[in-house]
Amino acid sequence: MTTVFITHPDCLKHDMGSGHPEAPVRISAILKEIEALGLNQHLKQYIAPLARKEELERVHSSDYLEALFEMKVEEHELVPLDGDTSLNTYSLAAARYATGAVVLAVDQVMRAEADNAFCAVRPPGHHALPNRAMGFCIFNAVAVGAAHALEAWGLDRIAICDFDVHYGNGTADMFVNDRRVLMCQTFQHPFYPYQGGNTYNPNMINVGLKSGTGSLKFQEAIEQHWIPALNEFKPQMILISAGFDAHRDDPLGGLDLVEEDYAFATRLLMEVAETHAAGRIVSTLEGGYNPVALGRSVAAHVNELLKAPIHRH
Ligand SMILES: [Zn+2]
Repeated sequence: MTTVFITHPDCLKHDMGSGHPEAPVRISAILKEIEALGLNQHLKQYIAPLARKEELERVHSSDYLEALFEMKVEEHELVPLDGDTSLNTYSLAAARYATGAVVLAVDQVMRAEADNAFCAVRPPGHHALPNRAMGFCIFNAVAVGAAHALEAWGLDRIAICDFDVHYGNGTADMFVNDRRVLMCQTFQHPFYPYQGGNTYNPNMINVGLKSGTGSLKFQEAIEQHWIPALNEFKPQMILISAGFDAHRDDPLGGLDLVEEDYAFATRLLMEVAETHAAGRIVSTLEGGYNPVALGRSVAAHVNELLKAPIHRH
């Protein structure tokens, strides 16, 4: 039993042009830090498979998928999909590998071949809508993973926890009013994508945080809003939309978190997972745009995941 770590070389080839914050260096910074700390020696490492069309179709429209699959992008060409999202010749493959990583991770924890998993992949996914790309996201990997756990593995209750600085509007759209899913989010509010802050829905726990919010209020939000809802819901698996752009050094986000906050959230989610879900956690990278802070934050998160009960003695 162990922690699985999944990535793919094509996730370093998706490139939306110099100066774009969602850049290949994000993944190389993570790999470098994981190796520098020696965490890689304890991880079971996999190369992501391509997500299959029928897996993507569980949350995305066939029209959207067909349009993307028919698109031809030449070397050195960038095709815009959204104001801040574009495709180079490797992007579609990267997005399919990023999503396939989460599907493989779900399979690994469901087969009890791993306690938990982290997918070091890009592009991110949580803004992607059923029928369009948005906010650096092409396919909604965490949503495809949740749908895979529900449809292919027959689970009845999945939690999706999202601590990215941005509200995960795409994922929320896909599962709002789906009583098989509880979604817990913390995010800066008001902030892009300007949704979520004041909406209420029985399966969406939305905790909007004012610009400048730091560790204390973030940790309180997790403890007082997420954890009681999760314990009442009793998820059979927890998926994490692990965005690290609420870090104080992030150039896009305006929150004031540090690495330990991510370790804290991870520990509390692991306790819930151990109580209700046989420890099953599948976490996938969303945002995080300061490569140094991102590397350290992911390392803090993965270091906690490695402390699954079997490793604790
Ligand atoms: Zn973000």
